[in-house]
Amino acid sequence: MTARIIDGKATAAAQRERVAAEVAELADAGVVPGLAAVLVGDDPASAVYVAGKERDCEAVGIRSLGARLPADVDQATLHAEIDRLNADPDVSGIIVQLPLPAHLDPVAAQERVDPAKDVDGLHPVNAGRLLRGDPFLVPATPLGCQVLLTTYGVTVAGASVVIVGRSQLVGRPLAMLLSLKGAGANATVTVCHTGTRDLASHTRTADIVVAATGVPHTVTADMVKPGATVLDVGINRRDDGTLFGDVDFAEVSQVAGAITPVPGGVGPMTRAMLLHNTLLAARSQRA
Ligand code: NDP
Repeated sequence: MTARIIDGKATAAAQRERVAAEVAELADAGVVPGLAAVLVGDDPASAVYVAGKERDCEAVGIRSLGARLPADVDQATLHAEIDRLNADPDVSGIIVQLPLPAHLDPVAAQERVDPAKDVDGLHPVNAGRLLRGDPFLVPATPLGCQVLLTTYGVTVAGASVVIVGRSQLVGRPLAMLLSLKGAGANATVTVCHTGTRDLASHTRTADIVVAATGVPHTVTADMVKPGATVLDVGINRRDDGTLFGDVDFAEVSQVAGAITPVPGGVGPMTRAMLLHNTLLAARSQRA
């Protein structure tokens, strides 16, 4: 069997088109959504990520309102800047680009963001709402995974989903999201991690396997049920700079029914869903 490729690039483009149309409608009603990316210091990789997010925003009509702070800024000044953005009505969404310089506390900074503007979905209020079954701003990567599944008609309701990885950013919120009672969810979810005994015995039972470990070859062909859907969240870099995921794509794509490539799978969806969240935040602030 050769798996159907779940094309994250094309799906993200469609999502951006939808967001652009909805942003235009909101702008006609007098509200232009704005995203503020707080970038501290001059880490080149972070600067590239933020520049990419700003380009994405501009392409869909979201204003990007960058906030740059020097590498030696103290926590109180960082918080004051976040407070200023929290109070600015032109700012619908705020992201604090990580990593922060080592002397700063990233969790305290993220918790300083107004939950209504927390488009990364990492504030305890948004994490709590998801846990409670009343999601508002959900982290972009899990949301992107869910949109890929629904776009490709993968049955999630009643499915057995095994997520490998339990991070606050990906594994945990995805488990919450897919086990909600509602459309595109209602799955039976198992979360695996380094404490899991016999990982393959879990993944082999799954209709949907999600790999989010940052470890190459976490999921190999013998670990996948024939016909299962496999989402690869991982981003690993070869010496030549090219990217690859946590799944042994060449082998697993011979067994799986559908699979995301890396690059071009979950990654572009993460970027698109940040735009979706900014739109959602702007709309809810207007209401
Ligand atoms: P973390 O390092 O925060 O979490 C990794 C998780 O994987 C941990 O829960 C860890 O378990 C688990 N794990 C690691 N190795 C194994 C193993 N051999 N077997 C079972 N479980 C294992 O990573 P993130 O969740 O932040 O990111 C995961 C990957 O996804 C990275 O490659 C990251 O770059 C990528 N990523 C991609 C995004 C995208 O848009 N495509 C967005 C965000 C992340 P334990 O808790 O026991 O340590």
